[in-house]
Amino acid sequence: MRYSEYGKTGKMVSALGFGGMRFSEPHKTDEMAAIVTHAYDKGINYLDTAPGYCEDQSEIIMGRAITELKRRAELPFYVSTKSMKVTADDLRRDLERSLRRLNVDTIDFYHCWYLLKPGEIDKRIAGGAVEAMMRAQEEGLINHVTFSTHLPGPEIVKVIDRDLFEGVLLGYSAINFRYREEGISAASAKGMGVVVMNPLGGGTIVNNEESFGYLKVHENQNMLDGALHFLLNEERINVRLVGFRDKHDIDTAVASVDSFVPYTADEIQILRSGSNEKFNALCTGCTYCKDCPVDIPVWKFVETANLLYIKDGESVKDHLKYYWGVSINELDACINCRKCEEACTQHLPILDRFEELKAALKEG
Ligand code: SF4
Ligand code: SF4
Repeated sequence: MRYSEYGKTGKMVSALGFGGMRFSEPHKTDEMAAIVTHAYDKGINYLDTAPGYCEDQSEIIMGRAITELKRRAELPFYVSTKSMKVTADDLRRDLERSLRRLNVDTIDFYHCWYLLKPGEIDKRIAGGAVEAMMRAQEEGLINHVTFSTHLPGPEIVKVIDRDLFEGVLLGYSAINFRYREEGISAASAKGMGVVVMNPLGGGTIVNNEESFGYLKVHENQNMLDGALHFLLNEERINVRLVGFRDKHDIDTAVASVDSFVPYTADEIQILRSGSNEKFNALCTGCTYCKDCPVDIPVWKFVETANLLYIKDGESVKDHLKYYWGVSINELDACINCRKCEEACTQHLPILDRFEELKAALKEG
């Protein structure tokens, strides 16, 4: 495993982080906690979670794993969690619950979570949430005050320029890097820590070799290597969060890190030129659009619409029917409230995607 210093914190964090948002059986706490301790045994010391992840079980699973890691008292590990609350009182309640669930006295990296739209940071400041984070830091309940965002690069720069935070967590991958690259540059220039989520584009990269095969620059690379090595080559990034489902996921990702050979300038050029603007418009399958008032599984349709933007030979109809088990007719219930668009982490025009899907199906 490789390690680098998170910003100016003195903490050496692993190149891969455990993203606690994809536990396959979240109610089997001990079994899932064993996956986390396996990651730690493989050198992964950055553990990321949040209230609400995995049917609200993620922090509990991490807490169970942390109990075990504390008992071993071997290498240090670092805990990251989040709150999207606006008021000081609400944030404090989130923080105290996270401390209890995670079984720690201090959260290493506490994120002002889900800055989705420009102006959201003003709400968190005016509501008292940011000040509450600073107060908790003075009390020793938080080590480092950080933020997570789905804003585009120039808007991330504006948040960074407020000089409130020691690190940033943002979505970034080999195919959509241009969308948030300015954020990484600004964070690095300020000496902040940088953690990226969604390094595999929600699985889109590894599942669509026909479109993204150009990421395999070296003969012996597979698609996972292609996605991860692009990010490993970027030294301004400290941690790449992967949503591990099981021990096999961990072993293959760690092996990929171990096999990494830095790219030459020419190879970087090939990688960067393979990506294009349309890849910014891909759904990452994050499911933040899940609170539809008429229960449409929005992400299943938008993820399927990715097929219209990348060529992988699979038909939209088959993907809806066999992969997701949904029918296009479910969209008839949509009341056009646009709640899903407001929540979308990639700022996608979801209703337009629905229309594109319908048109594609009509064309056959
Ligand atoms: S716009 Fe349609 S799909 Fe989106 S949340 Fe509203 S009803 Fe659901
Ligand atoms: S439509 Fe947007 S919010 Fe929903 S899964 Fe895709 S990227 Fe995430």
